[in-house]
Amino acid sequence: MATYDPASRIQKLRHFGEFGGVNPSITDSSTYTFLHGDDMFETFLGHMEGCFLYSRHWNPSNKYLADALAAMEDTESAWVTSSGMAAITCSLLQLCNTGDHIVTSVTTYGGTFAFLKNYLKKFQIEVTFVNISDLESVEAAIQENTKVIYTESVTNPLLQVSDIPRLAAIARRHNIKLMVDNTFTPMIISPARLGADIVVYSMTKFINGKNDCVAGAICGTNQFIHDLSNVNDGTAMLLGPVLDPLRSSSILKNIHTLHLRMKQHSQNAQVLAEKLNRSGISITYPGLKNHPQHELHSQLMNPEFGYGGMLAIDAHTVKKANSLMQKMQEQDVGYLAVSLGYFKTLFSCSGTSTSSEVPEDVQRQMGLSEGLVRFSVGLDNDIEATAETILQICHEEGLA
Ligand code: PLP
Repeated sequence: MATYDPASRIQKLRHFGEFGGVNPSITDSSTYTFLHGDDMFETFLGHMEGCFLYSRHWNPSNKYLADALAAMEDTESAWVTSSGMAAITCSLLQLCNTGDHIVTSVTTYGGTFAFLKNYLKKFQIEVTFVNISDLESVEAAIQENTKVIYTESVTNPLLQVSDIPRLAAIARRHNIKLMVDNTFTPMIISPARLGADIVVYSMTKFINGKNDCVAGAICGTNQFIHDLSNVNDGTAMLLGPVLDPLRSSSILKNIHTLHLRMKQHSQNAQVLAEKLNRSGISITYPGLKNHPQHELHSQLMNPEFGYGGMLAIDAHTVKKANSLMQKMQEQDVGYLAVSLGYFKTLFSCSGTSTSSEVPEDVQRQMGLSEGLVRFSVGLDNDIEATAETILQICHEEGLA
């Protein structure tokens, strides 16, 4: 098992406000004054460490959050974006040019799938979709023009666990980059420590944990972040999806409780998964011994954080899934809503919501049942009672 402690890395940061405030001051400015004209030019050239020129490039509040993310991931640097999709798309467009090729897990968040499948065609960037657990097929898909292997640590929505160390070894052998979306498992899995070159996040989810904003992050080397924010050809600088500093300051405060929340999400999901599993419900959760990558997850995870807050129940048909979700909402299990990482339990039928961009035949090929209900388990104080309610509804629906 890994031994890294991402929470203490964040705890050790000493960020003070302008007047000694315990929270860093918010820099509510889009532009910055210079005392000397020469300094402005040097800053544009990227030679002035610690100088800010314009908030689309860097903002001090965003830098505080980026530093916390880099500390959490153990990367040299990070950059914060206005959405998870901005983090993913900017990083891929930074790494790939027209004519290049990407090997990706076929199981990814629907928006990422749509970007890879439909959008990158515009730039003649080729994409091969593979089963990320089949490492031979991953390596076999690599071509002369391949630049990136792309995956999610724990995939959305099938909860397949990526073997990051072995994928990193394949990437190194072919001199290409491994990029990992760690949205489902912040602190639980530390992809950069396991060999990933770039780690991306939708901070909309667990990292912020409040569902009050959309945000993203890119963690990587100083060189990669510098290239992304280069004024001449940096994808992030030129496409401009920067995070608002008011938001980054509120996310920074929330990141300080992330370790507690992740442990509780995991603990609740484990209780729920075990109880539903014992009743014969078809359930997928990496913390269950019957999960195909349970052992792998156990090897990759940082101690004490558990197996995450995401689980899935197969209700077999969309009709059953809808009925189950409606009843669960009526009986206060949580909300019928997309997204995840919230303090309330959220559930949605993946095939007709967050994976609806994936064509039905591909959904079936990858093993995504039309009735799969994805749960983001909340921070319920009495998870046993919640589990009992779900179990009863599952009985009514003939699922248990
Ligand atoms: N990555 C994963 C795994 C997701 O689940 C999502 C959104 O659901 C995204 C990325 C996109 O993030 P955002 O909605 O913040 O753009």
